[in-house]
Amino acid sequence: MLETQNTQAVKTLDLKMYINGEWTNSSDNKTREVINPATGEVIAQAAEGTVADARAAIAAAKEAFESGVWSDLPTVERAAYLLKIADKIDEKAEELAALETMNNGKPLREAGFDMGDAAACFRYYAGMITQPDGETYHVADPMQAMVVREPVGVCGLIVPWNFPMLMSVWKIAPALAAGNTIVFKPSEVTPVTPTKLIEIIEEAGVPKGVVNMVHGAGPVVGNEIASHKDVDMVSFTGGTKTGKHIMKAAADNMKKISLELGGKSPNIIFADSDFEVAVDYALFGIYCGSGQVCSAGSRILVEESIYDKFIERFTERAKQIQVGNGADPETEMGPLVSQQHMEKVLSYIESGKQEGARLLFGGERLTENGMDKGFFVAPTAFADTTQEMKIVQEEIFGPVVAIQKFKDEAEAIHLANDTDYGLAGAVFTVDGAKALRVIKKLRAGITWINSYHPTYNEAPWGGYKQSGIGRSLGTYGLDEFQEIKQININLEVEPVGWFKN
Ligand code: NDP
Repeated sequence: MLETQNTQAVKTLDLKMYINGEWTNSSDNKTREVINPATGEVIAQAAEGTVADARAAIAAAKEAFESGVWSDLPTVERAAYLLKIADKIDEKAEELAALETMNNGKPLREAGFDMGDAAACFRYYAGMITQPDGETYHVADPMQAMVVREPVGVCGLIVPWNFPMLMSVWKIAPALAAGNTIVFKPSEVTPVTPTKLIEIIEEAGVPKGVVNMVHGAGPVVGNEIASHKDVDMVSFTGGTKTGKHIMKAAADNMKKISLELGGKSPNIIFADSDFEVAVDYALFGIYCGSGQVCSAGSRILVEESIYDKFIERFTERAKQIQVGNGADPETEMGPLVSQQHMEKVLSYIESGKQEGARLLFGGERLTENGMDKGFFVAPTAFADTTQEMKIVQEEIFGPVVAIQKFKDEAEAIHLANDTDYGLAGAVFTVDGAKALRVIKKLRAGITWINSYHPTYNEAPWGGYKQSGIGRSLGTYGLDEFQEIKQININLEVEPVGWFKN
């Protein structure tokens, strides 16, 4: 629950956990400061959950699942709750967007889009769950085979800080639609809008125990959720290293897993593309969200005949990006989410310089106009990068792009696929056949032709290779939260007669 505390000059929010329908402090009463990354101010104190809190939440979710209070509801009734949640998100969209900007740092305009998408996602799954479901098969007489879909059970949902509201909704909406109960852990860095979302879910009247939220550290609360035997599935979005840990932790009780992980996505620009459109999307692909987007176009591959011209125009445009506090409507790019993350991004920039990449612009922390209080890094680009460089192979998750040239289609495809990741990618060309040829060769789950970033609730989201396992959104996103059961019905109830006596 979001209670406001008055502490000296600054008003802070008091973020409790939600377990079995009650708003609670941590079992050892510890809290953690939540910071506004644009100003460095403490904006909230969040309960610091413990293993005991995670276990209490899991027990509540298990009891609620077994009671059938949610899974046994007719789908139209579950859908009605989801629609109510969507309406409440819409009603509070402005307040939610302001809170998202205050906690994550993203510009208000981006936060506003996220709230619209969040409401739409609940509506999408409300519609889907009431659709015809299951299959029947004509098998050998006298049998009739049918297939039904059932909820998985208790689902552990663990999300990162880059889209605090939207990543929560991408999991909670399909998990609830399918009839599961939930133990949800937001990022400790950005618990504000996730807490507000749980408040909305409570207001919508979802029965107690169905949705539980535990704040706290990944290695403590997240690890307990991933490893606990009573959690039937874990759906995780975050870094690839953490994803590997979750996979191992989940192995003991053979949990179902769904992993949405990192990326190092290529944006391929051919000489025959619409040049200004390609430059525009290349900027959007990397600097939107300050580059803290899993699908960010963090590697730009440019055909050699337009390489110099591209660099010139890209630099000219990037230098005009307005960086500042996301709460200012003029701001186009906000801060990074935390001091720790800013330091990580700056260390990658250092590594790019040391490995001999050509720094085109940026490359430093921004401190003018009060930005010294927050965690701002200038839009940054390196040119003439090569495949073995860390800034080409590793996910930086900041406003830093590596630009490389290629000579032909085959080389573009080779460079594009030559990392451990396979989340996203784009191709810019007006030659439709070439665009599709190249896209089909990309080892990535999310792709665009002459565009970058737009994605829709209807289409599946997820990666190849070390970018993940499974898909969010679309019908595939619902499948993740369902078990499939075959039912074989004997239409002539007589003994099988296999054994003589
Ligand atoms: P992390 O992997 O560090 O954390 C993600 C979540 O996992 C957080 O809630 C974190 O808790 C928790 N966690 C950390 N350690 C453990 C553990 N040992 N066991 C269980 N849970 C744990 O990622 P970030 O939050 O830094 O997010 C950035 C990453 O997310 C990037 O790599 C990005 O690419 C990826 N991402 C992928 C998306 C996709 O759709 N493919 C979408 C968005 C982001 P804590 O609160 O302690 O941090």
